[in-house]
Amino acid sequence: MRHRDEASLVGWFFHSFAHTQLGIRSVELQGRVVGRPEPGWYLVQFSQPETIQLVKFERMSHWQFYPDSDSMMMTAAYEKLKVEEKESQQSLIRACPRCKEPGGIPSTGPCTDCANGG
Ligand SMILES: [Zn+2]
Repeated sequence: MRHRDEASLVGWFFHSFAHTQLGIRSVELQGRVVGRPEPGWYLVQFSQPETIQLVKFERMSHWQFYPDSDSMMMTAAYEKLKVEEKESQQSLIRACPRCKEPGGIPSTGPCTDCANGG
């Protein structure tokens, strides 16, 4: 009989998040929690590249967990769409002040072509 420890995340799938250059939250890493060698530490299997690492519980506080890999993959696809949508919105807003093309550097700058004297 398997008893799932309330305090344990073992067996759950997860995403960690990072922010793109435009400050949009996007999925950084995904994988599965495979063990808890001692309180406060989890053994985590990351995919792409596939590695196993010991991770401190605190580092996982902003992760998002899923009971199965299907939920994880569906969320990843959804998050990716959201990022693409926001990025296209932002790049339209951030038009280059010189050539008026989208893709100006966030907040002030011209696009890379203009910045490079093009
Ligand atoms: Zn430009």
